[in-house]
Amino acid sequence: MAIITVDEYRDRISKLKPRLFIGGKRVEKLPDHPITRGVVEATARVYELTLDPQYSDIMTAKSHLTGETISRSLHIHQSYQDIERRLEMARLSSQKLGTCNYRCPGNEMLPALAATTWEIDQDKGTEYHKRFTEYLRYVQGEDLVVSGSVTDTKGDRSKRPLDQDPDSYVHVVEQRSDGIIISGAKQHATGAYAADMNLILPGLSCRRGEEDYALAFAIPNGSEGVTYIGQYNPYSIEREYTDDIRYIGNPIYGQRETCLIIFDRVFVPWERVFMCGEIEYTQRLITRFAKTHRMNCGGACKVGFMDLIIGATQLIAEYHGISKASHIVDKITRMVQLSTTSVACAIAAAHRGKEEPMGSGVFMPDEAISNVAKLNTNDGFWEVTALAGDIAGGIAVTMPSERELQNPEIGEYVSKFLKSSASAKKRMRMVKFLQNWVAGLHGVGTYQGAGPSQNQVLVLYRITDLEEKKKMADELANKYD
Ligand SMILES: Cc1cc2nc3c(=O)[nH]c(=O)nc-3n(C[C@H](O)[C@H](O)[C@H](O)COP(=O)(O)OP(=O)(O)OC[C@H]3O[C@@H](n4cnc5c(N)ncnc54)[C@H](O)[C@@H]3O)c2cc1C
Repeated sequence: MAIITVDEYRDRISKLKPRLFIGGKRVEKLPDHPITRGVVEATARVYELTLDPQYSDIMTAKSHLTGETISRSLHIHQSYQDIERRLEMARLSSQKLGTCNYRCPGNEMLPALAATTWEIDQDKGTEYHKRFTEYLRYVQGEDLVVSGSVTDTKGDRSKRPLDQDPDSYVHVVEQRSDGIIISGAKQHATGAYAADMNLILPGLSCRRGEEDYALAFAIPNGSEGVTYIGQYNPYSIEREYTDDIRYIGNPIYGQRETCLIIFDRVFVPWERVFMCGEIEYTQRLITRFAKTHRMNCGGACKVGFMDLIIGATQLIAEYHGISKASHIVDKITRMVQLSTTSVACAIAAAHRGKEEPMGSGVFMPDEAISNVAKLNTNDGFWEVTALAGDIAGGIAVTMPSERELQNPEIGEYVSKFLKSSASAKKRMRMVKFLQNWVAGLHGVGTYQGAGPSQNQVLVLYRITDLEEKKKMADELANKYD
């Protein structure tokens, strides 16, 4: 079995030495820093879940390369059932962590690369698929954490890469006999500084003249020339300065942590280059990644978050003695309806999964339905958090710190005036947990992660066969013409 234990993971992560900066300071040890510790703990929990026999169907798979049992995070879907299991893994890990599982975008890039490298080799006689397969064998065998980055910094969005600072998109600056030198940066990279490997895909559908940008590769964390700059916000500061994490919402795992990854003339050996110059395949590669990611990220991961939000809201309603009021029942039910609609689309997208391209052995979800799963979630998640804030009341944003309960001067006041049918401590703990969602980073994170609505709208319009629908209407309306 090629799955490592949580202790082996902790040992490995303690040796990782990314060049990482957060809040203006260099981070030396990932497991010790108050912000990066949450990423390490969340990833460790995923390793634990993977070896937990009750979840083995969901969290593990059989490698199509070696036949060994591997983490599903590194699996290439071999059937539509595999895609369905992948969805279950996304929902389960969100329910268990209340934040990112930190193996997700990389997970969804692997099948996209398997399919597209196969296709390029078939058409052009290149050896990308052979390289990719060797790489996959390696990461599966070592059970590595692989992050996935597609989002360039993009600068002026109205301009192509060559019409502005060329580093606004990651690109090749030099080709050598042993590999390539690349420059640029990727942004919003979830957990990349704590991943063993960073997988990079092109962030735009390239045109003629943009061959240097048609680029996919993998590099190990700690490679020379790579710098990570972590996100920093009020939730980071709260985590940085607290002396007791019990008081800060999602205590162990925290918020979803991302970073800017800068590549300053980084060397990538040819063995780790999976596309270099094939502009005509960039859109297909991105599309395959996007539809898989949108199905999981939109229709399963965020549904796991919604499960937590609904649970916390129902508890608070019970603490407040309002859970039986008809409008509260209606609102909780509406939250369930929204989350169920999202996951229903994701399941349908997986169930309609097909081999793509034929002969590659790789299965991909249905493109239209996976995009709709994400679109539903973009709007649905906002509504779910709004309803949670509605039901929880103003306390969701005005609450003092639970620490005040320990203050001999005011503890009794807080205990007396913040109790409900539950003790002040119990109530405050749950309200703080909910604050993560109703007044935290997850609203924008959910909307933008895997792309804002307009991206899905464009895909949906592009792939819908309007001619066929026009024909159907015409046939009926003009039957007796
Ligand atoms: C919490 C979080 C985690 C993420 N994790 C990852 C990750 O692990 N890996 C990864 O690769 N990415 C990740 N992302 C990135 C995510 O995919 C992007 O945020 C998203 O695609 C939007 O890109 P952007 O942030 O650059 O915003 P923009 O592209 O600037 O979009 C902002 C708005 O501008 C509009 N817009 C953009 N360009 C144009 C244009 N040319 N013309 C008209 N309108 C335009 C968009 O429609 C949108 O409404 C993550 C994002 C978040 C928030």
